Amino acid sequence: MLNRRDMLVGGAAAALAGSISETRAQVIATAAQGQRAISVLSDGAFEMPRSMLARDIPIETIAQATGAAGPSTSVLNVTCFRQGDQVIVFDCGSGSNFLPGTGKLGASLEAAGIAPDSVTHVLFTHLHPDHFWGALDDFDTPLFPNARWHADRREVAFWTDAKVYEKLSEDRHAFAAGAQRIVKALGETLELHDAGSEWIPGVAAFDTAGHTPGHVSFELKDASGPVFVLGDALTHKIASFAHPEWRPTSDHDADLAVATRRRLLDRAATEKAQVIGYHLEGGIGRVERAGNAYRFATPG
Ligand SMILES: [Zn+2]
Repeated sequence: MLNRRDMLVGGAAAALAGSISETRAQVIATAAQGQRAISVLSDGAFEMPRSMLARDIPIETIAQATGAAGPSTSVLNVTCFRQGDQVIVFDCGSGSNFLPGTGKLGASLEAAGIAPDSVTHVLFTHLHPDHFWGALDDFDTPLFPNARWHADRREVAFWTDAKVYEKLSEDRHAFAAGAQRIVKALGETLELHDAGSEWIPGVAAFDTAGHTPGHVSFELKDASGPVFVLGDALTHKIASFAHPEWRPTSDHDADLAVATRRRLLDRAATEKAQVIGYHLEGGIGRVERAGNAYRFATPG
């Protein structure tokens, strides 16, 4: 008898058969780091008003600096790699309840040949909907049935605090309700950790709070040089690099996020790290110094 998961997989396979080229494009970048083969998978993309890139800056200035007017497209990049018999995923997309154009991680995993039941660890940068709501499938069961889930202790404490609604504007209340529902569903498979430590062997979290109160980024350690999985510490391929001082409306603590961005950009440039941003078009790149600021350099 078909169970609910079989039905989901069957549906995804049927969808794949009709659009092979589209699904291939959903593995958007790959990189090697020593023994690790890293893939960046797409969960889709959404459009957002360009004014969200900077509060207090005229829209004409934002359009000129970012080279376009009108809405800004925000891609969603989920990073994953194998390490021995572990399969590790960073953040897990929006699921089907957030915004049109997102929730495509399942099809991208198929395209990459990664079976959901093979995933052993999921590490979260933060608990915003586009990173966390994909943890549950359409039937509210965990997308990765055999995974351990890992999140920052401060981040989980913030979103599950009974008083969180007093700290958020009304348009963000759904973020908290969603986070609380998923934290509850993951139950004891969700492990809490502190920034500044290795959450699993070879993968250390470091503090990049500001976008959310407990936001972390990850350093994949290897003798061949670091890879940083940034999450939303840098969210736009031009604005976050050329204007780290801009204060996006999506940052919870805008001033702290600016300080975090400056420190992170300096460190990534100095250490010549490969960086992967959840919303950075092109997936994997490096941070280069450019005048008094920086730019995102992607291969090719
Ligand atoms: Zn995000």
